[in-house]
Amino acid sequence: MQHENNIISDLLIVGNGITSQFLSLALLKSLGNNIKINVINRDITENYAEEYVRALSISLSTVNICKALGIWDKVKQYCYPVERIDVSNPSQSGPKKGYLQFDNRINDQLASYIINERKLRDIVAEELSQFNNLTIFNEDIKDISIDQNQAKLFVKNKKFIAKLLIAADGRKSIVRDILGIKAISWDYKQTALSCVVNHSKSNTKTAIEMFLDTGPFAILPLDEKTSSIIWSSDNDIMNEIKNLNSESLIEELNKRFDNSKGKILKIDNIGYFNLYFSITRKIIDHRLVLVGDSAHVVHPLAGQGINIGLRDVAQISEIIVDSIKYGLDFGSINILEEYQRSRMGDIISSALIYDGINKLYSNNIKPLEPLKSFAIRFVDKIPLVKKNLVEEASGIKENSPKLVKGIPLNL
Ligand SMILES: Cc1cc2nc3c(=O)[nH]c(=O)nc-3n(C[C@H](O)[C@H](O)[C@H](O)COP(=O)(O)OP(=O)(O)OC[C@H]3O[C@@H](n4cnc5c(N)ncnc54)[C@H](O)[C@@H]3O)c2cc1C
Repeated sequence: MQHENNIISDLLIVGNGITSQFLSLALLKSLGNNIKINVINRDITENYAEEYVRALSISLSTVNICKALGIWDKVKQYCYPVERIDVSNPSQSGPKKGYLQFDNRINDQLASYIINERKLRDIVAEELSQFNNLTIFNEDIKDISIDQNQAKLFVKNKKFIAKLLIAADGRKSIVRDILGIKAISWDYKQTALSCVVNHSKSNTKTAIEMFLDTGPFAILPLDEKTSSIIWSSDNDIMNEIKNLNSESLIEELNKRFDNSKGKILKIDNIGYFNLYFSITRKIIDHRLVLVGDSAHVVHPLAGQGINIGLRDVAQISEIIVDSIKYGLDFGSINILEEYQRSRMGDIISSALIYDGINKLYSNNIKPLEPLKSFAIRFVDKIPLVKKNLVEEASGIKENSPKLVKGIPLNL
């Protein structure tokens, strides 16, 4: 019998961000009433700044997940297709500027799209509203305890109990902190400015990545003449930028903006994010799983954070559905080991690639200049390398979980 203050479910998810929403949807679409999910989120009104909405670059793995969950037709309506990616190193002097053009397709399929995060989340939230075995609580988490059979989460006057606790509570994960899960991390001492701009010329379905002396400057097209800018630079530089009014900020951005898109006319939705690298030493424990930014935070230069997090979701939801199908305890460590084994390679390789690119290009070390331009020219000269890079960023491998391949999960 359920004690008045004990709230029992099969699964307890902490956080209600994008990975949490996709996880609930993946499970409910295939398990229906065979699973009860409780989500614990903090009171978001107090933390509005961190709920900042940004433009997301979604890769083919995320597109396939949306297809398998039956939401791609809705999501696609809000996506801007990226047919080409131009990568350059404009700070170099001399006639041979580093410059690369990627045809952003894999087997005639577009490899990425840009979408407003809020639109994506609204679509998933609407889908979730059909299920009455998902409940979201806004609570302040006080403690967590885990034993052989259950995970328990304590809030004021209540205790949530489940077979499995999933941390989807982002880069400052409280679950990670309370349970003392260590991460390998370093501070980039960089801040990312993220904003939405209107500009005078068309986007022509092209995304731009410029490696400036001070750090990467990305222009992600949101529609014909609207783009999101993500400019990562040293904290000192960004502290000065933060103090500018809109007019001066536009002026500063126009100095770096790509000519092919004309001039910035209007700026909106400005946010600043401290950047650091972090991978937890483990992504499972007894009755515990970490997904998304709670497990790994990567540099935003390639816009891969959510894509990696949703691949976590694809893997763990497949494991849970299969366990239920065969009557197994999905919270037991033996079952969860499969999640850690299959995810760690992708997480570590993705995180380190973007970390390396950022370190190489975000500095003014003169002896590295030839290497910077060599790297770009090398990739440009060998079409197979370019093709492999686009395929790598798509996040789809032969041994990927079903959802990543666009295959629905069925009980
Ligand atoms: C500038 C910038 C640009 C980016 N651009 C891209 C991009 O183009 N493409 C891409 O794929 N990724 C991008 N990313 C990364 C992406 O935003 C993250 O990877 C993604 O938001 C992580 O999702 P999440 O659900 O794991 O965590 P979050 O989105 O951080 O969600 C965490 C959830 O946990 C909740 N929570 C937090 N603390 C508590 C608590 N104490 N108790 C209960 N609930 C709690 C929060 O309210 C929230 O609901 C970018 C990141 C930055 C900084």
